[in-house]
Amino acid sequence: MRKALDEYTRKRDFDTTPEPSGKTGKPSAQRGRTNPALQFCVQKHDATRLHYDLRLELEGTLKSWAVPKGPSLDPHVKRIAIHVEDHPLDYATFEGHIPKGHYGAGDVIVWDRGVWVPDGEPTEAYRKGRLTFHLNGEKLTGRWHLVRIRQEGKQEPWLLIKSDDSYARPESEYDIVQALPDSVLSDRTLRPATSGQRPATRQATRQRQPGTTSNASAQAPLHEPATTQSRRELHTPALDGARAAPLPQSLKPALATLVDAAPAGHWRYEIKFDGYRILARIDGDEVRLFTRNGNDWTLKMPRQAEALGHLKLDSAWLDGEVVVLNKAGLPNFQSLQNAFDARRRWAPSSCIHGMRPPRGSIIPTLSY
Ligand code: MN
Repeated sequence: MRKALDEYTRKRDFDTTPEPSGKTGKPSAQRGRTNPALQFCVQKHDATRLHYDLRLELEGTLKSWAVPKGPSLDPHVKRIAIHVEDHPLDYATFEGHIPKGHYGAGDVIVWDRGVWVPDGEPTEAYRKGRLTFHLNGEKLTGRWHLVRIRQEGKQEPWLLIKSDDSYARPESEYDIVQALPDSVLSDRTLRPATSGQRPATRQATRQRQPGTTSNASAQAPLHEPATTQSRRELHTPALDGARAAPLPQSLKPALATLVDAAPAGHWRYEIKFDGYRILARIDGDEVRLFTRNGNDWTLKMPRQAEALGHLKLDSAWLDGEVVVLNKAGLPNFQSLQNAFDARRRWAPSSCIHGMRPPRGSIIPTLSY
């Protein structure tokens, strides 16, 4: 099994790519007899060219095919599936951004996952280049075929074909990759290929036009091989627009703005806690708490400062709301004020909700 992952390992530098190294994956057979099912996943990968990676668990690894156009439920549509190197089992849940300059650079989401059930003995069928199996995923179901069309080179072409069963649907009526574009594991989706971006929220990509990426670079390889040219970029923080900088002495938090109506499109909300907005500045062992106007309240909330110190962060700014909860578990502003008025050093109780990095700020290295 370890040998099966040699090519996977050779192509990647695990100090700098977030992909799993494959050292922890255990085949299903070793996970216990109660769960002999073989897993499969389809990862949507916005590399040099957007494609879908179909992975079937077999012999302790994930046998893998890159399907440029993704699966089709139409039995008349044969999708090219390029056989690629085996991947470790824990790759099945990998989502994230493979940094520029690395093999397969770009964003990965888990587009589908579940179990696959081979028709008959799969190992020999795989060697012979003719697999028939059932998928029981969140998107893909029913019977499928994977058929090798040429046995040559490192990137053997296979075909992925839907069997004509009750789960089959004409492509003209239903295109599953367009209809269901998002991750099955998270709220991630993929925005149009602009290299170096992190996975977008769903709303950003709803407008993605069919075929835009593949038309633009139809001849480009699916995976850009790793190069040394852009290695220096690997040390920049993995946040949009972030850059390394010393920890700022002070920060002004982004404040809520009153508007008459919710914005158009897809959006999210967070609870507006009724308490005091507090920013925590953590610099090594020193934790200081500031109000939104920059007043130092560290001495007013020694317990909270101490608790934040236990996070063991090297350096950070955290932004949150200090609240006191009532018996129903809801923030109560009067109780919060009473707690300060009483000058009880143990109050308010150590509830800091909604801690998050201040919007638009520079986030220094967080290490746990
Ligand atoms: Mn890929």
